[in-house]
Amino acid sequence: MITVNLSEMPEDGIQISGQTEQDIFELDPADKEVSVAGPLEYDLHVSDVGGDLLLAQGQLVAPFTLRCVACLEDFPFTLYLEPYAADFDRPASGVLDLTERIREDILLELPGYPHCDRENDDTEHTCPAAGRYSIADKDTPGNAEDPGQGPSAWDALDGLPKKDS
Ligand SMILES: [Zn+2]
Repeated sequence: MITVNLSEMPEDGIQISGQTEQDIFELDPADKEVSVAGPLEYDLHVSDVGGDLLLAQGQLVAPFTLRCVACLEDFPFTLYLEPYAADFDRPASGVLDLTERIREDILLELPGYPHCDRENDDTEHTCPAAGRYSIADKDTPGNAEDPGQGPSAWDALDGLPKKDS
């Protein structure tokens, strides 16, 4: 839980940073497309901006495991929300709980159709399914005269060094 006790907050605001000890996302374990890979890190400055509004600004870092929609392989993905900003109504309880808002903001930023070669933390990664379902190729006029001549895994094997000697 990420909370601020407003009665302890100085006039110029308070810096809160750390990691969540519990999983705040509580994703459905049956959902294999996305799972939490570690604690959420937060570094936020919370201040009173007047009019019963509070502002949290800073950064969030959240590690996930996503499943590629093309090759169906899991891959590591770390979401960085920086700069992150959210405003909150001053709670009557005197304790501001940022958890639910942060949870929603992070989930909204996750890629809806993740590709292991685009969002992967390992930027060198190539999706094994790349080009396999390439709809764009069919519609490219230049390819019309040689149908079925697209690159395939076998072509890649043919690309190995040839015996020239
Ligand atoms: Zn992939």
